[in-house]
Amino acid sequence: MSREIFKNIPKVDRILEWPEIAPLLAKQSRPEVLKAVRHALDALRDRLRQGGSNQAFDRESLIASVLAELSQRVAPSLRAVINGTGVVVHTNLGRSPLADAAETAIMNVTTRYSNLEYNLENGQRGRRNSHVEALVCELTGAEAALAVNNNAAAVMLALSSLAANRQVVVSRGELVEIGGSFRIPDVMRQSGATLVEVGTTNRTHARDYQTAVCDATALFLKVHTSNFAVVGFTAETSIRELAALGQASGIPVMLDAGSGCLLDLSPYGICGEATIRQHLQDGADVVTFSGDKLLGGPQAGIIAGKRALLEPMKQHPLLRAFRMDKLSLAALEATLRLYRDQRQALKEIPTLRMLTTPAGELSQRADKIIRRLRRSLHPAVTLLKQRGESSAGGGSFPLLQLETTLIEVRIDALTPQQIESALRRTTTAVIGRIQRERFLLDVRTLLDQDLPQLAEALAEAAAAPATEQT
Ligand SMILES: *Cc1c(COP(=O)(O)O)cnc(C)c1O
Repeated sequence: MSREIFKNIPKVDRILEWPEIAPLLAKQSRPEVLKAVRHALDALRDRLRQGGSNQAFDRESLIASVLAELSQRVAPSLRAVINGTGVVVHTNLGRSPLADAAETAIMNVTTRYSNLEYNLENGQRGRRNSHVEALVCELTGAEAALAVNNNAAAVMLALSSLAANRQVVVSRGELVEIGGSFRIPDVMRQSGATLVEVGTTNRTHARDYQTAVCDATALFLKVHTSNFAVVGFTAETSIRELAALGQASGIPVMLDAGSGCLLDLSPYGICGEATIRQHLQDGADVVTFSGDKLLGGPQAGIIAGKRALLEPMKQHPLLRAFRMDKLSLAALEATLRLYRDQRQALKEIPTLRMLTTPAGELSQRADKIIRRLRRSLHPAVTLLKQRGESSAGGGSFPLLQLETTLIEVRIDALTPQQIESALRRTTTAVIGRIQRERFLLDVRTLLDQDLPQLAEALAEAAAAPATEQT
């Protein structure tokens, strides 16, 4: 192979002066641009080496290669995506988008100092939990509350504090796996508690719990079966029954409520989940729940219940390992504040708003979105309105299907799988679903702020060459 073709390749310094490349230095750091150019040159030399001497150096493709490499280098790994799945609390897509008030609260403490653990009244050391405890108590009727990193940590901390080296009685029907390797039996083992399984998969009665009681019994535990439902011949012991039994035998009742609902959503056709306040009224002594599922706040685990039972948790060494960071804490406080006014919560907390949007409004929204996207639509793209259903996600209401409106996206010459794949690779990725050989976007989870990027993504996907389906 001739060395001549390599000689034709310009030097790095020259390439940096090209009118297509030089302006990049204004936007990106010199080392980033330099790395992208070197990478593109290496790739070019490899190609020439493999392709033999008949291949010539091509300026246009070198520039394209530099731009592609640079945009890949500077794009953050964790970034915003457009959720077109209709699953409101989507664990893989970051669960709950935050309310504006939560964003503001985060901004306020991000680049400045704060009174995170400083008591402004007496100038002494304060407790980070103090920023949310009274709010949780106000909203749930609990005597005491504690916020930690997530609900898994809340369960772990509660069990370690209340039941280490002792027994916890749980129904066989509630030994759940939540996904991402959170299994109730494993968490119990880690906490040092011994699991005593009672009842059967489909039926557990109060007398099953009662017969399991012995000197070593520390706790009755109920776990919300968040992501599945047992139907048919079933029986579950209610919190009320368990609380009566607990009172008679002096054993506290703990509930892992999973999602954690602070508002009664039954007026919106979302039934089957009692509020935390209701669980406590029914006699649960300790309830744990997530901050970023139905509650619609940041990642957090909240423990609410009897003061005497929470006190050892507040002293437990694990609390240090499980404590919330200040940004999440700021967002949690702001989100909880919105709940003081129910109407405001439903309007301003995106998770609640998306779950409770009436079907008629979703249909109108679909019309509006389609009209808006059509203004700048690539000629190869067709948008069609369809009726459909969305699920809540995030371990709440596993059987619930909410009436929704879908937008079917068709792109000439692309299969639904190719559309799905192309939209995942656009500058702002768009995640939808394929159903009956159609690629669909659910209007329920499309946010107003997504629309400009959605328009761009559709144009990019229509212009991109079809990729293999991966
Ligand atoms: C989601 C869930 C958890 C785990 O909560 P994270 O906040 O994700 O840690 C635990 N228990 C139940 C019942 C759940 O639904």
